[in-house]
Amino acid sequence: MNHHRQRLVVLGATGSIGVNTLDVVARHPERFEVLALSAQNKVDQLAEQCRQFCPRFAVVGSEEAAARLKDLLRPSGTGTTVLAGVEALERIASLPEADTVMAAIVGAAGLRPTLAAARAGKKILLANKEALVMAGGVFMREAQQNGAVLLPIDSEHNAIYQSLPIGYSSNLENSGVRRILLTASGGPFRQMPLEDLEQVTPDQACAHPNWVMGRKISVDSATMMNKGLEVIEAHWLFNAPSARIEVVIHPQSVIHSMVEYADGSVIAQLGNPDMRTPIAYGLAYPERIDAGVEPLDLCRIGTLDFERPDFMRFPCLRLAYEALERGGNAPAILNAANEVAVEAFLDGRLAFTRIPEVIEQTLSSVPWEEIATLEDILSADAAGREAARQHATAPRKQA
Ligand code: NAD
Ligand code: MG
Repeated sequence: MNHHRQRLVVLGATGSIGVNTLDVVARHPERFEVLALSAQNKVDQLAEQCRQFCPRFAVVGSEEAAARLKDLLRPSGTGTTVLAGVEALERIASLPEADTVMAAIVGAAGLRPTLAAARAGKKILLANKEALVMAGGVFMREAQQNGAVLLPIDSEHNAIYQSLPIGYSSNLENSGVRRILLTASGGPFRQMPLEDLEQVTPDQACAHPNWVMGRKISVDSATMMNKGLEVIEAHWLFNAPSARIEVVIHPQSVIHSMVEYADGSVIAQLGNPDMRTPIAYGLAYPERIDAGVEPLDLCRIGTLDFERPDFMRFPCLRLAYEALERGGNAPAILNAANEVAVEAFLDGRLAFTRIPEVIEQTLSSVPWEEIATLEDILSADAAGREAARQHATAPRKQA
């Protein structure tokens, strides 16, 4: 074990992943010290977390939120310095004292701070898949050049990581891997009659059968864009061509993903659907610690089912595979259009079935370009958002 406690920065501390992270951390005060926390605007919740963990820094999204947080913390003497904005997020993600950064901001907003952690050579617990989807090439290069260690927190990628050979770093062939089998629950609408999909509400879309998550990723699970983003995430994390990444529907979410080897062996990681398992794995790596997770009772579960994904029901999955194949700015545009469409759906401004349509229209209206730098990525993101907003407000074409 380290001589000092592992010093941790949690970006997105008030979210579903952030809260689960602090739950695991609180079980092991002898191992972990919380150096900094961030939240966009849930100031009351962040203040409570600051009282519990006394971080040196807390970062929020605006100066108003910072003023409120300072007021809330004044009587409690936590000694926390309160900051606001993206530069402050980059600063806490690269603090010289920090060992580990949990990247759990949702969406493109997480890119710059997560990239700062990569440049600073931190151990990065990567939950923010959108950052990798947008900026995979740049991000992996920065991580490698600066000695950052990337541990995937997304349950599927964490399962793949655990199922690959120890020290896996090059490519699938050299490691005798034939395929990555990415499991997916199929979300709440796996069996809903197709004609009913148009009318589904945000609350229905967010009622995931197995996982409790933030609203954006819950909608992504309902469209299966989440799995599409995960295909792209797996491509970058494991240097895997899209043809070797196969999605398998597994409604129980007990097998979190699998790796198939050349000799026919298939290695899987199983567990209850509880994000504290991959989080604890990342926090303690290469050791194992208690995560507060119920033991898996296979006899109670009884049956594990599998089926092929239906690309007609889930066009987002096809769009993600296509964007990965096209490369360049396509994944960043896909991600931006998806964020815009999901937000419009959650606000009641867009029908559920329009989400893939808006993404597809955006991908065909923004010209393809090569990506070399962070600036290229940010401009692809901006162009994707702009075009998606127009497509999302345009009246629907009659079929
Ligand atoms: P969430 O919505 O519950 O929390 C998001 C966090 O990010 C909050 O702390 C919020 O304050 C912060 N945030 C939001 N917008 C921000 C902005 N513009 N700038 C700075 N901070 C901002 O989301 P979540 O479900 O915890 O997901 C977080 C990330 O982890 C996502 O990328 C998601 O895809 C990924 N992930 C989540 C789960 C899960 O079980 N929840 C599983 C796998 C991967
Ligand atoms: Mg996942």
